[in-house]
Amino acid sequence: ADHALQQDDLAHHLHPFTDHRQLAADGGPRIITHGQGVWLWDTQGRRLLDGMAGLWCVNVGYGRPELSEVARRQMDRLPFYNTFFQTSHEPVIELSKKLAGLLPEGLEHIFYANSGSEANDTAIRLVRHYWQAVGQPQRSVIVSRKHAYHGSTIAGASLGGMSSMHDIPGIPIPDVVHAEAPYAWESGKGMEEERFADAAARSVEEAILAAGPERVGAFIGEPIMGAGGVIVPPAGYWQRVQAICRRYDILLICDEVVCGFGRTGNWFGAQTFDIRPDIMTMAKGLSSGYQPISAVAVGERVVAPLLERPGRLPHGFTYSGHPVAAAVALENLNIIEREGLVEHVRETVAPALAGGLGALADHPLVGEVRTLGAMAALELSPESIQPGGNLPLGTVATRVRNLCFERGLATRAVREGLVFAPPLVITTDEIDTLVDILTGCLDAVAAQLRE
Ligand code: PLP
Repeated sequence: ADHALQQDDLAHHLHPFTDHRQLAADGGPRIITHGQGVWLWDTQGRRLLDGMAGLWCVNVGYGRPELSEVARRQMDRLPFYNTFFQTSHEPVIELSKKLAGLLPEGLEHIFYANSGSEANDTAIRLVRHYWQAVGQPQRSVIVSRKHAYHGSTIAGASLGGMSSMHDIPGIPIPDVVHAEAPYAWESGKGMEEERFADAAARSVEEAILAAGPERVGAFIGEPIMGAGGVIVPPAGYWQRVQAICRRYDILLICDEVVCGFGRTGNWFGAQTFDIRPDIMTMAKGLSSGYQPISAVAVGERVVAPLLERPGRLPHGFTYSGHPVAAAVALENLNIIEREGLVEHVRETVAPALAGGLGALADHPLVGEVRTLGAMAALELSPESIQPGGNLPLGTVATRVRNLCFERGLATRAVREGLVFAPPLVITTDEIDTLVDILTGCLDAVAAQLRE
């Protein structure tokens, strides 16, 4: 049965972000059947510890009957109605009220979409509508950063800072510029933290000055870059970036698609770094991935001129505020709250990950370990085992990643490193298991490199 499924997949399924030649050479995908807590199973009955919470999203873990129950009830009652024009429904109203209560003060108005990409597209459109409404339509430039990930639509890919995302004509779209990332492993080695924070923030200011501050409408950033490699900024970086935005009257957008809903040990990454964005985008952990839903939270400053303008806001998606997705998201937030998962991250997961993975900093194959909340990255340094080894970037991390999958741990390779973002419900025993499997894989790959 497995083989037939794999053949059908190879024949008909175009996978996102996948090397299809490699997939075919491997005989097709590993087929995941079900999950419980932090664990996944495949068609061959093998068990995997999900070190990535699906794709940074299954915050409450797999196998939550509360969520399927809520979805079933809502489907029976009202599976769909739109929120265009002048109608609404209870799930979206209740979710909006709940979110407004959890969000940092001042973010009270919420627009819905289906994915993180759409949330970021929406944020850009709202920013441009805002500047138009206040008589400064020339403020169309958005400043983003290298290594950022903001999605896969044309605008999302443009905002992103990975060169592979810009590899086709027309991307980035006009009026998107990129500053440097606050990525010490790449550009701040040996630099004192405060000096590096200064330098990284200065790069944002330089991008603004190069574009012309009077033309810049917003800066967008993930509090901690996720897909770019769990890039934890140096202390003081975000305060400086916020101050720069205020100096030039530029709106600050936090992309909380990964950082939101407990991942960093607070409800939102902006709280962890003590900043006050004008706009926040969310997805993933909003529903723990149980339903596709995303949101854009907007403060009074931006919303007031838009609401005062005559006529319709010309923006929206059929499934904006989808009732089933909204009901599931609401129950998901209730679970996070009821089970104290944000505190669990802060008090239990963060120290256990920092301790367990932090100890690997001395491993011969590891160059640096970064952890914050329930996020972590390892930078590998194969050159310390094979000086002048010259393997193409990513070879060793991919090898470790593949071995981890074979030995029952799902992780992800980014450049020559590995990232982790397990479900927030992970226990200290499960973190020990994660670290044990990873250590064994690092040992094995280090031994291969020595041969
Ligand atoms: N923003 C961030 C920070 C992300 O990590 C992602 C996806 O990984 C997105 C936006 C795009 O979200 P989606 O894949 O739901 O469009």
